[in-house]
This record gives sequence, C-alpha cells and structure tokens, in this order.
Amino acid sequence: MIISFDIDNTLIPYSNEFEIEHKSILARIIGAEGIRKGTIELFNKLENRGHHIWIYTTSFRSVISLKRTFLAYGLRPRKIINQKVNLQKLKANNSYVSKNPKLFGIDVHIDDAPGVKIEGDRNNFLVIIVEPHELNWVDKILEELE
Ligand SMILES: [Mg+2]
Repeated sequence: MIISFDIDNTLIPYSNEFEIEHKSILARIIGAEGIRKGTIELFNKLENRGHHIWIYTTSFRSVISLKRTFLAYGLRPRKIINQKVNLQKLKANNSYVSKNPKLFGIDVHIDDAPGVKIEGDRNNFLVIIVEPHELNWVDKILEELE
C-alpha cells in the first residue's frame, strides 16, 4: 500500500508537542528538523511489510529540504507532496478539499487534523488520525493498518 504522512504536528512538532528522535551531529549540521520519536521505527516496520511511504503536506517547505530532513535520520520517503504540488493537483481536478490522497493514488493518509478525516469520509479516502499527545501512536497506526 501507499501510505502518506502529514508533516506539521504529525511528524514534525510546531514547538514541543511531542518528543523527537535523537538529532545526530550530521542532522544538526545540515539543518534537519526534529522528527517525532518513533518515526524511524514506524517507517522501517512499514517498509519491511512492503508498504511505500510518502509525505503529503500542505506546508510550502521545499521538497529538497524535506528530503534532507528525513535523510538525516536514514529515512527515504518515496515521494514528497508539498503544498505547491498539492494545489496544482487539486486545481486540475476541481477538487475543493485541503488534501485529496485519492487523486495521487495514496491508499491511506495519516494526519493530526480531524478536518482531513471529515473530508476523507465525504470524499471516500482513508485517513487515520494521530493526535500530537498520543504516545502509542506507532502501535496505533500499525494496528489500524491491519
Ligand atoms: Mg498537521
């Protein structure tokens, strides 16, 4: 399956909403952002189960800078959709939602925003909500994907 992850307050905190992975010296030097504790374990487990991991964000961060951040932790999401790419796709398809994973061929999207889940229910795409304070978020996602 293709599984996409939101960035803000799902994998990267706005401030200190959740604990982050240890930042190596390399990560600091290249200016990588802190990513949520458990992300490395989760991505590795999902990849070992044959899933493809994408990033799908409404952030205007560049694809290059997001790639660099994940690479600093040894992670290589297969595709990164930022807001620039998202808006182009939505417009081309006359889709009036904030995100539309189905248009990109994504099977399941993971996000902290309840609004995205509501859009999914209305537009027939699957969303798993993970709130910033959830400590067992990795297990929750693995269980819900079963
Ligand atoms: Mg978010």
